[in-house]
Amino acid sequence: MASSQEEVMKFWNNRKTNRWLCNRSLSPNEDKSGNDTRQEKDQQNSPASPTYDSDADPEFVPDTESESEEEPKRNIPKQKQEMENKPPLICAGEGESAEPSRDAASKKYKRQTDMCYFCETDVQNFVRHLRRNHLCETKVQEIFSHQKNSVERRKLLAILKKKGNFIKNSEECVKPVKKARSPSASFLPCGNCLGFYRSKFLYRHKKKCLEGQSAKNAQSEAQNLLVKNKRIDQRLKVEVFPRMRADKISLEAKNDYLICAYGARYLKTHREKHFINVTSRKMRELSRILLELKKLEPTIHNLFDALKPKHYDQLVEATKSVANYDTVNDTFDSPTFAMNISTALKQCCDIAIHMVIKNEPSVETATYEASLKTMINLLQSNWRFDVSGRAGNDLNLKKFNKVTIVPLATDLRLLKNYLLLKAGEAVNEMLLMRTLTLLCWRQFIVG
Ligand SMILES: [Zn+2]
Ligand SMILES: [Zn+2]
Repeated sequence: MASSQEEVMKFWNNRKTNRWLCNRSLSPNEDKSGNDTRQEKDQQNSPASPTYDSDADPEFVPDTESESEEEPKRNIPKQKQEMENKPPLICAGEGESAEPSRDAASKKYKRQTDMCYFCETDVQNFVRHLRRNHLCETKVQEIFSHQKNSVERRKLLAILKKKGNFIKNSEECVKPVKKARSPSASFLPCGNCLGFYRSKFLYRHKKKCLEGQSAKNAQSEAQNLLVKNKRIDQRLKVEVFPRMRADKISLEAKNDYLICAYGARYLKTHREKHFINVTSRKMRELSRILLELKKLEPTIHNLFDALKPKHYDQLVEATKSVANYDTVNDTFDSPTFAMNISTALKQCCDIAIHMVIKNEPSVETATYEASLKTMINLLQSNWRFDVSGRAGNDLNLKKFNKVTIVPLATDLRLLKNYLLLKAGEAVNEMLLMRTLTLLCWRQFIVG
């Protein structure tokens, strides 16, 4: 009995020293384990062991205080603390870190840069940049002379921002004043404040910007402002550009120097006033072809790039697409366009050759010249088989089927009687008044 009591006491003493109540499981199997297993566990609990767990070791003394226990996160809401302590929802695969995904962090809102009007650099914090770098500028001094967050200060800052952003937006609109929900929305600048607004609502802003003045042709004027610095024929700029409908096709035509050169040449050879509209139409036709080509071949940036023999097939495709070619019935909806565009393209090749040969003679210029001449040959020899032959047939068929109404003899008699009646009325009026008034004369002539 005494020996068994001693054994029990020894067991309880061992348990006390190991502080099993806090650190060990209460499994009965463990109680049955002998001294050897306990020694193994002690070895595992030593700091040298690779499976050592400091949290499980009651005798562990931390190096620093910060490691000993986590500091309570003050000033952070309880909900946020819970969120931070939660394990990552997605299990890390092989070779992946178990850290939470940083996608959420990358989605964080990032302020878009503004271009500085004075040094033409993109800046993240516009106001800070002005204060640090351009405080000597009078406009900046004026801005900072106003109180922080005041209306005046905000207005002046917005004006300066718009001016700076106009520099980078001129090529492609990157920073409009207000973003549009639709990704396909186009933006145009206001001629007064140089801010970029959605084309559709530009007139509305301009009316406000010009303080009630008329904002007629706002889009057309905005497009002309964008191409103001380009070397384009003055007559084309003054007479044709304002007559062009302000859309994507017109802007493409105004931006392409070869299309503009073609328009200028056409206007020089056709000096009558009504040819202004014809010039606009012809330039738009070329622009539509170019836009279609850009869709088919992204490497094409302008008409000069497109006029290469390797792009001939794409040119045929683009023409068919613009002329609404029906592949099932093998017919063109606009056969006239398909027939006439080859003439315009050949003239563009001719203008391009003149542009190239004006430069210093070199291997490059000779290559361009040869390439353009080959393109003219292709258009002369192949175009009729690929496009214009079929288009010509369609045009003749349409003409043949068109019903033409010829005036009958009774119609002509009716017209003659009406004119005689009107002339008689005019003569009687003149005799009555005894003077030749302009109204009577007009009535006599026109009837
Ligand atoms: Zn600057
Ligand atoms: Zn404005």
